[in-house]
Amino acid sequence: MIISKRIVLRFPRRLVERSIVSRLIKDYNLDFNILKASISPEEEGLLVLELSGKQADYDEGIKYLTKTGVKIQSLSQDVLRNEERCTHCGACVTICPTGVFEPDALTKRINFNGEKCIACGICIKACPPRAMELHF
Ligand code: SF4
Ligand code: SF4
Repeated sequence: MIISKRIVLRFPRRLVERSIVSRLIKDYNLDFNILKASISPEEEGLLVLELSGKQADYDEGIKYLTKTGVKIQSLSQDVLRNEERCTHCGACVTICPTGVFEPDALTKRINFNGEKCIACGICIKACPPRAMELHF
């Protein structure tokens, strides 16, 4: 069975230069989709991935990552928009760290691109009509 999970990887400084993700594909047969990457030489690296593959390969890949010193956080929760409540006020656009909310100049609406969401929850409190909801 193929599974697909969204995870957040935090790299200690010494690992930033190493190509950990390419090993995941080569040695563990995993596919990945990078949803967000911010790695700076001075700071800890952050990578949000959608990782998919066979459960056994996934488990081995996660073990490998843990051994190398990467911190892993699973995104088992989803943040979704209640379309009936959203007033398209735009308050969420600049606060979302991954750019989920995309203003459409033509329609004057704020599109919600859920694929990019890392479920950080920042938008939940920031949304005036409480349109952003946490689902488990
Ligand atoms: S802050 Fe809330 S109401 Fe305003 S555009 Fe974003 S989701 Fe919609
Ligand atoms: S939870 Fe909200 S602020 Fe955080 S990434 Fe998702 S849409 Fe953006």
